[in-house]
Amino acid sequence: MTDRTPGFNTLAIHAGATPDPTTGARATPIYQTTSFVFDDVDHAASLFGLQAFGNIYTRIGNPTCAVLEERVAALEGGTAALAVASGHAAEFLAFHALMQPGDNFVAANKLYGGSINQFNHAYKSFDWSVRWADADDPASFEALIDGRTKAIFIESIANPGGVIVDIAAVAQIAKKHKIPLIVDNTMASPYLIRPIEHGADIVIHSATKFLGGHGNSIGGVLVDAGTFDWVGDERYPMLSKPRPEYGGMVLGETFGNFAFAIATRVLGLRDLGPALSPFNAFLLLTGIETLPLRMQRQSDSTLAVARHLAGHEGVSWVSYPGLEGDRYHALAQRYCPKGAGAVFTFGVKGGYEAGVALVKRLELFSHLANIGDTRSLVIHPASTTHRQLTDEQRVAAGAGPDVVRLSIGLEDPADLIADLDRALAG
Ligand code: PLP
Repeated sequence: MTDRTPGFNTLAIHAGATPDPTTGARATPIYQTTSFVFDDVDHAASLFGLQAFGNIYTRIGNPTCAVLEERVAALEGGTAALAVASGHAAEFLAFHALMQPGDNFVAANKLYGGSINQFNHAYKSFDWSVRWADADDPASFEALIDGRTKAIFIESIANPGGVIVDIAAVAQIAKKHKIPLIVDNTMASPYLIRPIEHGADIVIHSATKFLGGHGNSIGGVLVDAGTFDWVGDERYPMLSKPRPEYGGMVLGETFGNFAFAIATRVLGLRDLGPALSPFNAFLLLTGIETLPLRMQRQSDSTLAVARHLAGHEGVSWVSYPGLEGDRYHALAQRYCPKGAGAVFTFGVKGGYEAGVALVKRLELFSHLANIGDTRSLVIHPASTTHRQLTDEQRVAAGAGPDVVRLSIGLEDPADLIADLDRALAG
């Protein structure tokens, strides 16, 4: 063995996994069990009291899920991670660890439509409020911060608009105000962007998309960068105050630079319950083994398709940061020089009706509400994912009436281009 730090491709295959000590199984086994037998009563007591690490019950932790957690933490460069049932669950548990009733957070106005709904509506029940900042203007985030602001939330590459946020500039504002920066890195994946290197304190994923990569499992992951100092910070009582659930333990003091990952597990996941099934963890892990290959190939194919559409007479505009001349191209070169991801939007001439008609005519592209599959996917956001939003919110989120979103898969780009040409010809 050398003392080399393993590269990204090696980590994607090996991080967190060793051959099974009992059977020698080389692939990570699916530990399909609800519960784990304790060694003895003292062992049980120490697990429940957080004095020892180990398995109790799959809602709180599971060995297959633990491999996924360690692998994503390694790929993102974090200290620890928590795997949960969905990307939305990851967002919810992140805020649950940070927010009290009456608190607010500042979020970029260009986000996945489901996150906009979650923040605007579902979080109202907890008396958490969102303040929308201009994703293109880091200073606008600072202007919205007050004494009750507990987090800043952005997407590294925003879904569906192909917007790239200046992560380092927003991180600087978060650090100045001692507020954690949460980055949803779903669209980029750690292969293209590692937000922690640019100042993120927490990274979340819808693992449903590029991490899993095969359109077969819903899952989410939260990654703790280990960068935020919770100790003594009264604004974050889950991390800085004695917890009655654990005999007065202060999680920030006991667990140091992975306290956030612990808090989301032992207070969030344990009490609120959105656990990932071990079977889904297995499928997500298998997907991650090819993440670097898929992400590079899909980004390359996306650039080819985007270039073709940019020169097509039935298309009024293409928004893909990988294109020279795109308004986010300079940010793309800075944050994701290997490629700008596999999702982009374009405007079809003829507006809403033309968008719906195009979706109907495509054959190779599947019409569905997902991204990050091996298969190429299409959706018309205004009539589907962004339907719940007002016209104004839709346009602000990059989902106006003429917008069509593509997620480019692993097929031959020439076949995809031929399908698009035929469907655009009417
Ligand atoms: N974040 C982004 C960027 C997404 O695209 C999605 C889903 O599309 C989510 C979060 C929510 O993830 P999930 O569908 O796994 O709950």
